Amino acid sequence: MRRLLAPLAATVLALLAQGVRAETILTPQGPAEVHARGGQFDLAELLQLTGAEVQFAPAAGSYGAVLGERDVQFTPGGTLAVVGGRLTALPAPVRLVDGRPLGTAATADALLAALGWTLRQGPRGWELAALGGGERVTVSVVRDAGGTLLVVGGTAQEPHVIVMPGQVGLLFATPVSLAEPVRPDGELVAGEMTGPLLTLRLKEGVGVASSYALADPPRYVVRLGGEARAAAEPIAPVRRAGTVIVLDPGHGGEDQGARGPAGELEKTITLAVARATAARLQAAGVTARLTRDGDDGVSLSSRTALANQLQADAFVSIHANAYRGKSVRGAETYYMSVDASDADAAAAAAAENVGAAPDTVQLILWDMAHVANLNASAQLARSIQERFNELQGIKDRGIRQAPFVVLTGATMPAALVEIGFLSNPADARRLTSAAGQDELAGVLAEAVLAFLRSREPAAEANR
Ligand SMILES: [Zn+2]
Repeated sequence: MRRLLAPLAATVLALLAQGVRAETILTPQGPAEVHARGGQFDLAELLQLTGAEVQFAPAAGSYGAVLGERDVQFTPGGTLAVVGGRLTALPAPVRLVDGRPLGTAATADALLAALGWTLRQGPRGWELAALGGGERVTVSVVRDAGGTLLVVGGTAQEPHVIVMPGQVGLLFATPVSLAEPVRPDGELVAGEMTGPLLTLRLKEGVGVASSYALADPPRYVVRLGGEARAAAEPIAPVRRAGTVIVLDPGHGGEDQGARGPAGELEKTITLAVARATAARLQAAGVTARLTRDGDDGVSLSSRTALANQLQADAFVSIHANAYRGKSVRGAETYYMSVDASDADAAAAAAAENVGAAPDTVQLILWDMAHVANLNASAQLARSIQERFNELQGIKDRGIRQAPFVVLTGATMPAALVEIGFLSNPADARRLTSAAGQDELAGVLAEAVLAFLRSREPAAEANR
């Protein structure tokens, strides 16, 4: 012990002079030191301890670590990492201090997990340990009186569930591997593991009714059901033909959303505007479906899941603001981003993400197909914002980006519009009167139609 401590003390003293100190990390090969500062670790040094090759790419300003078949990239100044080609959100941003990429233990652990390692605080201090390829899970098909269940055994993790047409994705926070290949059985056609994502392919017409974790032994259960189950029937239940738009009236049920000066509820306003917008879209020959058509509580993830199942052409979530000063008025339109474009955008996202599981917020993840929709999402948001600016006489308000959970995982162009401020008297009058709601719906419907028209040449070319 003494033999080890002497050189370590010398290093610590040298580092203290620079405001940086060494943190001892216990590894399977013995103790090692990495630079640390203010509870943050040098991530490049930590990743190297796994045996990974770590390189800095000056042109991109990003770090990359490769270990066997696993790789991870991250960029100081941001909260994004690319794990096995997929974007993922880190728990906290990576900071560049004195040329070192520093991150919290949670951020370090998230990056290490991508390489199959973990950083944890043990009885003797910080320990770096291999995840041993992660937990080994099994997938089995069980049938009961209620129908068919897919049971994922061998882990106590509760994955983030992504429902897409013909498949369900289970995204684990810590990588797992399959103990044995997934055997097709009835409704389950195939299954494969890609990084932290277990994709289970389902028979045509089979969807997901619910999913939940069970203990003793720990397992995660996906109950299968019919596909495209909306919380409510839409205005006109039309099969997918031509263009489909999914409108999402924000909040519902116990989640009332923002409140107006006379107690008006955001959930009531958003439903009225969504219904009126849907009616106008239907009249224009576009199939419009609502994620709820009553005062129902609908989870954020099932709102986009409906749009995904319907293979909608666009998804618009409708909200109203009420958390800043009385003078602030007008609409604000957002599209998906892991990083908020400014502090106000971050506050808006935080207000609308209430009720989402914290891990969903932290692990905002969407695959490359969704990234391809970013431009179209920005275009949809711009079309909406421009028309609301015109109606509300506002010149300077542009579109913004923020990590809204309800937009996570949408596989089509998606935007969230805050149609006005309940805290502003003029906006509140429009938001709470039938005539005003109809006016807002008219503007929103026109914006969606203009977006669809602008997309037509591209759609033709793809045929
Ligand atoms: Zn809202």
